[in-house]
Amino acid sequence: MSVFTDYKKEIMEAAHNERIRLALSRAIASYRANTNSALKKFPHTVKMAEEVRGIKADAIGRMEELAGQAAEAIESNKGKAYIARTAGEALEIIDKLVGTDKLIVKGKSMTGEEIGLREHLEEEGNEVYETDLGEFIIQKLDSRPMHILSPAIHVPKEDVAQLFSRITGEELPADDIEKLVATARKLLREKYFQADIGLSGANVVAADTGTLFLIENEGNIRLATGAPPVHIALIGMEKLVPTLGDANKVAEVTWRYANYVVPSYVSLVSGPSKTGDIEKVTTYGAHGPREFHVIFMDDGRTELARHPVLQQALYCLRCGGCLYECPVYAVTAGHFGDKYFAGVGAVWAAMINHNVEKAASIAYTCLTCGRCKVRCPMAIDVPQMMVELRRLIAEGDSSV
Ligand code: SF4
Repeated sequence: MSVFTDYKKEIMEAAHNERIRLALSRAIASYRANTNSALKKFPHTVKMAEEVRGIKADAIGRMEELAGQAAEAIESNKGKAYIARTAGEALEIIDKLVGTDKLIVKGKSMTGEEIGLREHLEEEGNEVYETDLGEFIIQKLDSRPMHILSPAIHVPKEDVAQLFSRITGEELPADDIEKLVATARKLLREKYFQADIGLSGANVVAADTGTLFLIENEGNIRLATGAPPVHIALIGMEKLVPTLGDANKVAEVTWRYANYVVPSYVSLVSGPSKTGDIEKVTTYGAHGPREFHVIFMDDGRTELARHPVLQQALYCLRCGGCLYECPVYAVTAGHFGDKYFAGVGAVWAAMINHNVEKAASIAYTCLTCGRCKVRCPMAIDVPQMMVELRRLIAEGDSSV
């Protein structure tokens, strides 16, 4: 079957799946209420989003320069930095660092998802645990993420209870969400301290100091990047901005539009752990990781940045807001997408993954209604991008 036929079957089945609709209707109502109240409480966020758009426009135009600057800063902080031109190069670097037979705890990373990092490391003979609760559910269901922030958004509590009951052999009630969360905590707790390596992405990176910003609520990223002796971060180059001050602004806008007044945790990581507490001799590997490796991956991003319309996809902060406004996503979840979802997902499929059939399928499913653009803090013009993408695909343009 062709990619298109598979996609059509998948999306039609999803549209008739009552459980997806149930889970999404609950999530959408809660997202809208939370975001509206967060923006009401901090109205400056709307103005700050405009400023962030300017920061991103500048940064996207010089990603390579910023990656070089960030790499230099990380090295001077005694970390190791790498620039990967392609996904293959990124996997090669990670393979050399990881080897085989390792226990790995992993935080949620869309860039990792994009290149199939977990599956790759498992094929290489490693044991990998997703530690984000949603990702953990997805991993155990052998499914795939359906939202960039809430990967298990399509899985109602009844299914989670069934899954965790099967894993633990204990009958867990669907109505006791606290117990379900506690079960995941218990299952993962010891893995953080047994792990050889912690893997993460980053929400934004300051090039001047080489600082990674990791935004989260669960505390799993702090543990996964803090407890093991080695921390490896895989980061798409579009996450770079010039300064620490810029990165702070990007982070605040991201979490506010991701429906949080403030997240429980924001970790800033710039190098390996160190101490100077004994005779002021700087020694690396105190309580946190002894090794810190950062891979900045291009894989089509600098090429995409040169396209006057489609480059907007690189401005995306991955706040997920557009998905909650999209009428197609509301009934199909992440089936309306590929590695990323909806309009931005179509551009990613075309320009980064070069999966033209998938990109066309998503681009032609889009209704170009523009509701996403109204919610988007970066005012990404998805309808404009879809029209342009359809044109490029129809004309057989060599860039897609
Ligand atoms: S396109 Fe805009 S609204 Fe959607 S995830 Fe990206 S930044 Fe957020």
